Amino acid sequence: MKIIMLGAPGAGKGTQAMRIAEKYGIPHVSTGDILRANVKGDTPLGQKAKVFMNQGLLVPDDLVIDMLMDRIGQEDCKNGYVLDGFPRTIPQAESLDAALGKAGEKIDLAIDVDVPDDHIITRMGGRRACLGCGATYHIQFHPPKKEGICDVCAEKLILRDDDKAETVQKRLDVYHEQTQPLIDYYKKAGILKTVDGTMQMDSVFEAIVQILGESLWQ
Ligand code: AMP
Repeated sequence: MKIIMLGAPGAGKGTQAMRIAEKYGIPHVSTGDILRANVKGDTPLGQKAKVFMNQGLLVPDDLVIDMLMDRIGQEDCKNGYVLDGFPRTIPQAESLDAALGKAGEKIDLAIDVDVPDDHIITRMGGRRACLGCGATYHIQFHPPKKEGICDVCAEKLILRDDDKAETVQKRLDVYHEQTQPLIDYYKKAGILKTVDGTMQMDSVFEAIVQILGESLWQ
C-alpha cells in the first residue's frame, strides 16, 4: 500500500504518518526528515536545502524529487510506504505518478488531514522535534514523558527554526499557494480521503484506520 499524507504544516500529518507506518509495518518516508538529516550532516544537498528551509520556502522540485525517488527505490519500500511532506507541488505529484506508472504501480490513497489556519498557528509554537530520530511532540497536546527529551531515542527536543512564529505564516502562505492544489489533483484521481484534523490525535488516527480498512483491505 502506498499512501500520501496531505495537510498544512502543523496539521499533525507527521505524527499520523508515523502511527500508520508502525501499525501496518511500512516505512514512514518524510522528505522534511531526510532534508534535515542532510542539513545536519552538512551534505551538498543539505547546504542547498538549508537556505530555503530556514525561510519557510519549499526546496526546489528537482532536488526533492531525486531525493524521494532514491528513497522509495530502496528495498524496504517494496511493499509500500507512507509519504509525509511529499508531494508538495503539482510537478512533484506528476513526477511521482510518472515514475510509479513506468513500474506499473500507483498511489493507493491520499489522506488530507484538514485543519484551519488559526488552529495551526496555535499548534506550531508548541511543537518540539527530535533531532535524533525525527519524532515530533507538542508541549500541550502530545508531551514527551520527560520534558524536553525524546521518548524514542532520549535525544534533546528542539523548536525547529521553521516552526518559529516568523516562518509559520510564510509556510501557510506557501502551503495554500503551492500544496493545496494537490487536494484537487488527488480528488480528480479518485483517491482522496479527508479527515478532520482538529479532533484529538487518537480520534484522527481511528478515522484514518477506518479509511484504510475500507479502502485497502475489503
Ligand atoms: P516538513 O518537516 O515536512 O514540514 O518540512 C520542512 C521543510 O522542508 C519545508 O518547509 C520545506 O522547506 C522542506 N521540504 C520538505 N518536504 C518538501 C518537499 N516535498 N518539497 C519541497 N520542500 C520540502
